[in-house]
Amino acid sequence: MATDFEPSIFQDAIARLDEAAKYTDVDPEVIEQLRHPMAMLLVSVPVRMDDGSLKIFSGYRVQHNNDRGPTKGGIRFHPDVDVDEVKALAFWMTCKCAVVGLPFGGAKGGVTVNAKELSKLELERLSRGFIREMADFIGPESDIPAPDVYTNAMVMGWMMDEYSMIHRRHTPAVITGKPLALGGSVGRDDATGRGAYYCIKELEARRQWDPKDIRVAVQGFGNAGQSVARLLHADGYHLVAISDSRGGIYKPEGFDIPSLIYMKNESRKLQAVYCDGSVCEAVDAHVITNEELLELEVDVLIPAALENQITHENAERIKAHVVVEVANGPVSSEADETLLADGVLVVPDILANAGGVTVSYFEWVQNRAGYYWQEEEVHSRLREIMAREFNAIYDAMHERRISMRTAAYAHALRRLGEAVEAQGTQRFFEDAL
Ligand code: GLU
Repeated sequence: MATDFEPSIFQDAIARLDEAAKYTDVDPEVIEQLRHPMAMLLVSVPVRMDDGSLKIFSGYRVQHNNDRGPTKGGIRFHPDVDVDEVKALAFWMTCKCAVVGLPFGGAKGGVTVNAKELSKLELERLSRGFIREMADFIGPESDIPAPDVYTNAMVMGWMMDEYSMIHRRHTPAVITGKPLALGGSVGRDDATGRGAYYCIKELEARRQWDPKDIRVAVQGFGNAGQSVARLLHADGYHLVAISDSRGGIYKPEGFDIPSLIYMKNESRKLQAVYCDGSVCEAVDAHVITNEELLELEVDVLIPAALENQITHENAERIKAHVVVEVANGPVSSEADETLLADGVLVVPDILANAGGVTVSYFEWVQNRAGYYWQEEEVHSRLREIMAREFNAIYDAMHERRISMRTAAYAHALRRLGEAVEAQGTQRFFEDAL
């Protein structure tokens, strides 16, 4: 929870609305509505632990805004989850869905828990217990969860099954990011990283980059960090630094990313390795901290972990030319100003990581139609959306001489404004009197 010393993430998040509002003629009522989350559910989830004891976990679901459609957004399991963070994440989902033009509003959920300390059975009980508490709050036509930090396809499968049992009908469209065998979509597992990769490919074309000259550092080696690193590496980019929650490794010549992914997922440890077939051995690399990774001399920095990694404390020391926000909210609003003044291009989270929710939308459409697409179709439709919105926002940034973040928020506000104004605002009702 925010204290006097630690500013509220939600307040910091909505602070960006005022700046963006200057560049649209959106009705002030739209901005006022976005400052207030629509509905919040706070629950206590009792879980029988493997040793027979009972533990109670706090859970949250915040529905921020549904003007453009049912609310959508992931569920995170993390020890730092609190209601302020979930509100901020829900607000970002509203903006993100509008940025890429999906017919969804924004929501987010979370449970305050260190998932790494739970057994698999405890994790299943917690996942099902959380859905039992939320079963009347979510639904395929009202609020649709998905994976986020420390939740995955299997957790989504348990949640879908629990919801279906409660409502006594098979309801795959209540949640996205499910295993393929339970109604998931091909291409959802790497969609967040892939969406960011498509943004970088557009930037590559705009800036006429040659991938072999570009050094990239990735903070966070979970689902999204691994996918974007793998795709960039396959194109010839140099992935010179990678980190996870325990620390990082640095190698100026660049890492072989498929080997790192193999080791990380097999051993849960991130270490520089050389693999020959299935035999991998540790090789030399400098060990660095997460903080050091952020300050490396690289061309592209990809924060793909948690919020508030680049703040007023380290913003001046960032040497990357481009920051691509694969995490939600990794750059604070104060740090934004410093980076802008230093000429660092920040491709904002509400665009850069929108690939995940975009393929979640495809999954929801497939579940409702009962007809499933091929991988090429998912990739090409995702690429078309990411390229279209990236270029519109990039052009607006240049035309108006504003940051790419402000341009992205203005882009979202225009779409949100159209939905609100279509139902009438004060201007409309005053005229009618
Ligand atoms: N948790 C992801 C995000 O922050 C995905 C949300 C979704 O697919 O609904 O964008």
